[in-house]
Amino acid sequence: MSLNDPWRQRSLAAVWHPCTQMKQHQRALAPQPLVPIARAEGVWLHDHDGRRYLDAISSWWVNLFGHNHPAIRAALCDQLDRLDHVMLAGFTHAPVVELSERLGALTGLGHAFYGSDGASATEIALKMSAHCWRNRGLPGKNRFIGVSGGYHGETVGALAVTDIPLFREAYAPLIRLAATVPSPDGRLAEGGETPEDVAERAAAALGDWLSAHHAETAALIVEPLVQCAAGMAMHHPRYLQRVRALCDHYRVHLVLDEIAVGFGRTGSLFAHQQAGIRPDFLCLSKGLTGGTLPLSAVLCTDEVYEAFYDDQTVRGFLHSHSYTGNPLACRAALATLDLFEQTDALALNRRTAKRLAQQLQPLTDHPRVRHARQAGMIFAWDVQDAPADFAQRYARQALARGVVLRPIGATLYCMPPYVITEEEGDWLARGALAALQATLDEVPADPCPGAVVP
Ligand SMILES: *Cc1c(COP(=O)(O)O)cnc(C)c1O
Repeated sequence: MSLNDPWRQRSLAAVWHPCTQMKQHQRALAPQPLVPIARAEGVWLHDHDGRRYLDAISSWWVNLFGHNHPAIRAALCDQLDRLDHVMLAGFTHAPVVELSERLGALTGLGHAFYGSDGASATEIALKMSAHCWRNRGLPGKNRFIGVSGGYHGETVGALAVTDIPLFREAYAPLIRLAATVPSPDGRLAEGGETPEDVAERAAAALGDWLSAHHAETAALIVEPLVQCAAGMAMHHPRYLQRVRALCDHYRVHLVLDEIAVGFGRTGSLFAHQQAGIRPDFLCLSKGLTGGTLPLSAVLCTDEVYEAFYDDQTVRGFLHSHSYTGNPLACRAALATLDLFEQTDALALNRRTAKRLAQQLQPLTDHPRVRHARQAGMIFAWDVQDAPADFAQRYARQALARGVVLRPIGATLYCMPPYVITEEEGDWLARGALAALQATLDEVPADPCPGAVVP
């Protein structure tokens, strides 16, 4: 990529990029490259100079079936010919009805409420939970519990249950902090413990908290099977079973945040299905539209819905976003669900994940790598004694090899689109390994404070 690409300069002058210290793109020493992308197809992002980069993190975990998928594009073009947008209060339309019916059938939940981003789904679920208890005459149940290292978005309400100090610290005075219970992360196993033991231990700690605080607790929010932003921390499904039983016992809602792990990422359509449980609220976004348009949804049980169904306006859920249930985004989601049905995507995923695990074996075998782990199409490795600023250095080295990989702290991970071919898997595995060696060989020239951003 050319550092003098005019789009790069104009972007730095006019755009405030997300999750970025803007100066890191322009500092004198080792500036982080900003990469202008002209087009994308399948797993590839193409820049203006004819270079291509394998999108090994699915553009922040949103893409499922590759960029510019012909079926999703066709659905969007068709929808554009019919209805671009209409407000969803007082009006409805076929795409939002069909999507809600299908999400209901797939999850055993219903009453889909739509937002635009993952963080808005978190806000909706938390507000609904507390309001539900209030409508039932229990207004004191208005506190929340999050899991250590949990991530549920970065709006002020979502930050209350997001336990990532880097994202939260500056805003602490604005936030009504949730309680944090220990993570069931399998890496926390001590002296002969199995991941299932860690899950039991973490659940026991939750039980202790609930026994003392259930009367003021509205909901627990959990990322099932993989806490992605925490550095792909993975846990045993037993945790979800224990948590379900505890929430039932103490009358606390269980909110499952499948914004990152939903839609086949962990091997099942939804991660919580591997534990055989059903949440009270389910938050979906990211892969919902196959990575094409922003859309999020919160599904809930009939019991929750019924607590709002009343003659009084104020007992309703008076929450809205201008673009709630946008028809284009819903059509993209319907086309994505079609792809799951028509291509037997889950079975294909299992085969691809197995093959990728073999292709990535040299990374697993690297002497500086610890805790190699996998859940479906999520692969992660911790780098021992990672140099200062490892994540940024590694991302630079990977980009130079035509691979988009952005470690979280010292955790290297990949989460590629499901359509990655064997040849593309080789490209990814070779680039990822070479970038690791190059990063470790690099002389630490600019020990600037490390950013740990995903
Ligand atoms: C990305 C993410 C969110 C926030 O979604 P945004 O669309 O970025 O607001 C919430 N929860 C989880 C688990 C996520 O990975």
